[in-house]
Amino acid sequence: GADMNEELYSTLKSKFGFNQFRHRQKQCILSTLMGNDTFVLMPTGAGKSLCYQLPAVILPGVTVVVSPLRSLIEDQKMKMKELGIGCEALTADLSAGAQEDIYSDLTSENPTIKLLYVTPEKISASGRLISVFYTLHRRGLLARFVIDEAHCVSQWGHDFRPDYTKLSTLREKFHNPPVPIIALTATATPKIVTDARYNLKMQNSKLFISSFVRDNLKYDLIPKAAKSLINVVEKMKQLYPGKSGIVYCLSRKECETVQMMLTKAGLSAEVYHAGLNDGLRVSVQKGWLANKFDVICATIAFGMGIDKPDVRFVIHYSLPKSIEGYYQETGRAGRDGMPSYCLMLYSYHDSIRLRRMIEEGNTTTGVRSMHLNNVLQVVAYCENVSVCRRKMLVEHFGEVYDEQSCRNSKTPCDVCERQRKNPEAIRLFDVSNDALSIM
Ligand code: ADP
Ligand code: MG
Ligand code: ZN
Repeated sequence: GADMNEELYSTLKSKFGFNQFRHRQKQCILSTLMGNDTFVLMPTGAGKSLCYQLPAVILPGVTVVVSPLRSLIEDQKMKMKELGIGCEALTADLSAGAQEDIYSDLTSENPTIKLLYVTPEKISASGRLISVFYTLHRRGLLARFVIDEAHCVSQWGHDFRPDYTKLSTLREKFHNPPVPIIALTATATPKIVTDARYNLKMQNSKLFISSFVRDNLKYDLIPKAAKSLINVVEKMKQLYPGKSGIVYCLSRKECETVQMMLTKAGLSAEVYHAGLNDGLRVSVQKGWLANKFDVICATIAFGMGIDKPDVRFVIHYSLPKSIEGYYQETGRAGRDGMPSYCLMLYSYHDSIRLRRMIEEGNTTTGVRSMHLNNVLQVVAYCENVSVCRRKMLVEHFGEVYDEQSCRNSKTPCDVCERQRKNPEAIRLFDVSNDALSIM
């Protein structure tokens, strides 16, 4: 009723410092507060965390959050502590003493912990943790389960985690009374959503989807040539002096080559890839967040959970592994809503390299053919000259999009921009295409 609405807004303001809900936050919060299982699909940066953090603050009891990465967990924990919200994390690297402290708080009369972050491995491995959940449940203090990055439960997602599939037991074990589950992801084609809801036994969950259109991102594509990266980055330097960017590369070695090219051109750049040790990775990430250097040359190991609002450009020096990956990676630009630039440097040769990497990879035939198919979709995106890029991207997520809005926007994609300058261009091209297919 009206009271609940008021309480939502006053908590939003007093605890989180925000005046308005964004996207579908409010609807998702109401759904989960009513006790529904809730499945939330919102683009990265939309503010999915608030959908469970605010309910956790409003209601008594402990909210358990499953999250796949220690870095994501640490980041959230820090934010919650800054806001004065009781928050702890049970991860593998915790000392025995610190673990005991958490367990004793959870079993105390009035737990101070409102949000407990855990990795999926911890849930499948620790009988003690499950029995603490049972005790909380019996005492009416198990408020909610949260499954963040829920696409990890689907084999079709790019981050499949076997331990995520075991989370379906939560629905079975804590059913009387049912503990509401809220699952959230930014990475989900219709196929992945169906699969994830099935694997989590959340077929009956309320589904909330918000638009994946990113109006402030300009998608562009040019052929990859010797000088194209340097030229583009020089342009970025003039357009956005002192601002940050990311150049995505396919391999560690390529990250280093690109860094050298940029350094030679007088730009400050660092590399980030899985070959760096933990300490180095953290320090590169921190340095970039603090604007100590401008450009990060990274493999896709970089980015998940990184929340830097003022990234002005994302350049793909080599092909992304899938359309979804491309959407996620470019999505790290322009979180603050300001115009930002996303460029793909395309060469067909790179798709051959990528396919070779997949063919050499150690996996099942099914997964391999899925990856190969993903690359084909990326190639189709790149070779496309007539369909709006925004349209192609969001339609991949099952959304309908009218390309007129890209055409009329301040940041039209390269296809729409060409169309706008010369409406005949595409028709001419279409004609020649037809001619080709007739031959
Ligand atoms: P997601 O998980 O969807 O990628 P996050 O939950 O990490 O996004 O939120 C991204 C950023 O948006 C965070 O900095 C968060 O504080 C901010 N944010 C969330 N909700 C709001 C809101 N209603 N108003 C303003 N900022 C918000
Ligand atoms: Mg998130
Ligand atoms: Zn367009």
